[in-house]
Amino acid sequence: MERRMAAPRTAKKRQNGKFDFKGFLHLIRQTKPKYWQLWVGLTLGLIATGAQLAVPKFAQSLINGLGHAMNQPLLIGVIVLFVVSAAVSAISGALLGFFGENVVARLRSNLWQKLVRLRVSYFDNVKTGEMTSRLVNDTMQIKDLLANSFPQMVTSLFQLVGALVIMLLMDWRMTAIMFSAVPLMMLVMWPIMRQSGRIGHQRQDAMAAFSGETDETLSEIRLVKSSNAESYETQTGTEQIQDLYRIGLREAIYDAIASPVMTATMLAVFVGVLAYAAVRVSAGTMSMGTMFSFMMYLFQIIGPAGTLARFFTDLSKANGSTERVRDLLSEPEEALSEGTPQSVSDATLAMEHVDFAYEDGQPILHDVNFDAKPNTVVAFAGPSGGGKSTIFGLLERYYQPQNGQVTLGGADVRDFNLSDWRSQIGYVSQDSAIMAGTIRHNLTYGADRNFTDDELWHVLKLASADGFVAKMTDGLDTQVGERGVKVSGGQRQRLAIARAFLRDPKILLLDEATASLDSESEAMVQQALTELMKGRTTLIIAHRLSTIVDADNIYFIEDGHVSGHGTHHELMESLPLYRDYVRIQFKE
Ligand code: ADP
Repeated sequence: MERRMAAPRTAKKRQNGKFDFKGFLHLIRQTKPKYWQLWVGLTLGLIATGAQLAVPKFAQSLINGLGHAMNQPLLIGVIVLFVVSAAVSAISGALLGFFGENVVARLRSNLWQKLVRLRVSYFDNVKTGEMTSRLVNDTMQIKDLLANSFPQMVTSLFQLVGALVIMLLMDWRMTAIMFSAVPLMMLVMWPIMRQSGRIGHQRQDAMAAFSGETDETLSEIRLVKSSNAESYETQTGTEQIQDLYRIGLREAIYDAIASPVMTATMLAVFVGVLAYAAVRVSAGTMSMGTMFSFMMYLFQIIGPAGTLARFFTDLSKANGSTERVRDLLSEPEEALSEGTPQSVSDATLAMEHVDFAYEDGQPILHDVNFDAKPNTVVAFAGPSGGGKSTIFGLLERYYQPQNGQVTLGGADVRDFNLSDWRSQIGYVSQDSAIMAGTIRHNLTYGADRNFTDDELWHVLKLASADGFVAKMTDGLDTQVGERGVKVSGGQRQRLAIARAFLRDPKILLLDEATASLDSESEAMVQQALTELMKGRTTLIIAHRLSTIVDADNIYFIEDGHVSGHGTHHELMESLPLYRDYVRIQFKE
């Protein structure tokens, strides 16, 4: 299926379906697995298989002894062998299962750790549903290979070779007849297996795309409803389901062909061997017991032969998953802990000749310069799409400027410790982000120490949010719903402000709410913000005239460039663009 989303990093060139053992081993090694579980599990699996191989030999003796008194010790021996081999096999299965689960758990931990540390630009290009699919489905595929297919392959191979050797020793001519069918079978099965692996690959991709698409739709369910887009979404969803269905059908066809082809070939071999054996028995050159035990070995190798064939399909499926997981793990992370911590207090924050583009060839900011002196209020104004939020993104260091630098006290902030940097910046955006969970969880989210209830109530009071929180049924422990749907826009903002109070940042980045708040909420939010801004350096994306008028310095941003700066009155005098903007925006 055509991949619908931009996922340039995960769509690297595939390796022609050849299994990348080195890559796979490297990936597994990264998880530091408990190898002893693998080895002990495998060894026990081989022992159990060995015991199974011995059964037909016992049966042979039993049958050849027919007509005489029952050989009791032999019978008991066979029963004990059964029980012991079943027990050993169970232990082996459990150990291998533990091994696989352990690897997949660590792999998921690594992936998760990676995902939350990836650069923001990665998230601009790849859908979250696709990432979770990697985290859940692809790791599962790898586990299947590791915990099921691989051990089964080893024991099957052992069983196959073991049975072959015993059969050769018993009767080499019969064995030769039987195994002449093997190359024939391979010839028939090989294309089917290859195709089946390829389809498995496509299915994983289609699944990731599907989960990406549905994830996004469901998380924007309000937009879907307000736009009456249910039918459209049903349609697009159904199309993807149909894609998956078509892939599933093809897979079903190949699976359906594979199994009867195998069975028919096996049956043919079986009948051939049986006929030959019957001739030999009647001619007296072979005992009845030998014939039966031979047939039992034949049955014993049917299963392993199928397992071996399936192994290659699983290998090919896991190959795609391995590649995608490895791609994801090799994505660059933010260097959160590198660089020296640097206090931002009493230093001027500035941008010097900054050029920036989210994507190559599409410049967004060019030659942006500004400075924000300590404890002043700097406002950014200008038409929407001009690049104001982008400037904030650079200040938070979500992105790096391509040219120029963001400086603090004249030094490039690139060299400062990123975690430390962000801990000193408070960002209150228009649609303040809220996580599912309690009010308490949201206030203390990411904090490195515990806070008392008194401290929390104190910041809520500073943010004029204590009133509505106190009225909630569970107070601080009230659930706010997914993305905070159970609190209003104004309340959400005041919670974000309370959170900023708690973090006590030296630099504030405020993205002023537009018209989304009612006037009462707006007044409360405004009051809370004014309180928050005291004693901090504040950079604010202004949407209200009063904010601009009160600011110490205004930068007018238009088309990714600073067209002018100064106080409101200075700009009204000197910059006609600004005058027009104010006139239209605020009807001045
Ligand atoms: P403002 O905040 O002034 O409204 P923005 O900084 O949000 O402007 O946007 C400036 C330009 O950058 C717009 O053309 C927008 O389409 C583009 N842009 C914003 N975010 C991204 C992104 N993550 N990837 C690509 N382009 C973006």
